[in-house]
Amino acid sequence: MPDRSFLDWPFFEQRHRDWADKLDAWCAQNLPVDHSDVDAACRDLVARLGEAGFLKPTALDTDNPGPLDVRTLCLTRETLARHDGLADFAFAMQGLGTGAISLFGTPEQQQWLDRTRAGKTISAFALSEPRSGSDVANMDMTATRDGDDYMLSGEKTWISNGGIADLYTVFARTGEAPGAKGISAFLVPADTPGLDVAERLDVIAPHPLARLAFNDVRVPASAMIGRPGEGFKIAMSVLDVFRSTVGAAALGFARRALDETLDRAGSRELFGAPLFDLQMVQGHIAEMALDIDAAALLIYRAAWTKDMGAPRVTREAAMAKLFATDRAQQVIDKAVQIHGGDGVRRGHIVESLYREIRALRIYEGASDVQKVVIARQIGK
Ligand SMILES: Cc1cc2nc3c(=O)[nH]c(=O)nc-3n(C[C@H](O)[C@H](O)[C@H](O)COP(=O)(O)OP(=O)(O)OC[C@H]3O[C@@H](n4cnc5c(N)ncnc54)[C@H](O)[C@@H]3O)c2cc1C
Repeated sequence: MPDRSFLDWPFFEQRHRDWADKLDAWCAQNLPVDHSDVDAACRDLVARLGEAGFLKPTALDTDNPGPLDVRTLCLTRETLARHDGLADFAFAMQGLGTGAISLFGTPEQQQWLDRTRAGKTISAFALSEPRSGSDVANMDMTATRDGDDYMLSGEKTWISNGGIADLYTVFARTGEAPGAKGISAFLVPADTPGLDVAERLDVIAPHPLARLAFNDVRVPASAMIGRPGEGFKIAMSVLDVFRSTVGAAALGFARRALDETLDRAGSRELFGAPLFDLQMVQGHIAEMALDIDAAALLIYRAAWTKDMGAPRVTREAAMAKLFATDRAQQVIDKAVQIHGGDGVRRGHIVESLYREIRALRIYEGASDVQKVVIARQIGK
């Protein structure tokens, strides 16, 4: 049985506990899904999560506007990741892909959100480029004013949901100033002429992922999210909300690894006794549990702080993401070790967790970048 005692921590309200229970019950009935066709699986997951109402926290409720509830986002990612990494991915992208619209969109732009929250429209976040991943302010893609329109030209890469998204939030250089102050954000429907999937990218834990080409993509000036030159600030505000949720997904993977390890160590007999009785194994299990609780504390501190109205949680979110993703990697590695040969057998749950966790230490700010962020925050 997964440890759910953390739900009693004072970071949560009863509505969070109820939500986690309801979602966990849904997951037990509906997950995991078949991953052999990730496009079809993600489309189906978005539709089913939407139908069941679980995508509602991903974006602003236009009928009842208020801030995104980061604790609910984290609890949802943690729970989904514990059951199925692809389900977590499908949920997370509906939030990341529309975060800019929720936080900075006009009422017209926000009309898309009813559809993304219902699972009827799939969204994506297009920031990274071949030359500028971590160095995002150095992007090349341009958006040039042409009468009442902007023309977008360039390339985006590593775009999750690339190929299946209906809607992209795209960042491009509008040139108000050099570097970070000359970037703006745009809402670009996937069927806009000139926007093409240049390449589908395959990774160790596959999900829909693509390099996108923008060849003179014409969008009306009203497609700009926020004001000219605010794109970098918008991207960072979105990441400020969603970065701790990446830690929450890692936490879900780590919890699953610990649960599997406890089952295995309890049921496998070695040297005439359960594996669990070996003190070295107990040492590993204790370290796994410690890492999981410490990660959870950092994640829900960041989420709670944001939900209590802090304008920015840059330091808290960076700490949560860095610690939770790095330690989940260690937790899962220990799980693989304790499973012996089965741990590296293709298709075994801990083998898939070993692949699933890796990218989380790279995207939405690599671990090294989080260290720089934390140092700058505390050094000020
Ligand atoms: C599976 C996956 C999904 C993704 N989804 C999206 C998406 O939906 N949208 C999107 O826009 N992008 C997405 N990305 C891109 C992701 O954000 C970038 O890969 C990431 O920002 C790193 O950029 P890069 O790959 O160009 O690596 P680089 O920028 O070349 O960095 C390589 C390494 O250098 C080190 N490094 C970088 N900067 C520093 C520093 N300041 N100090 C110390 N070390 C440093 C880090 O170890 C880093 O991993 C995704 C990536 C992956 C792998």
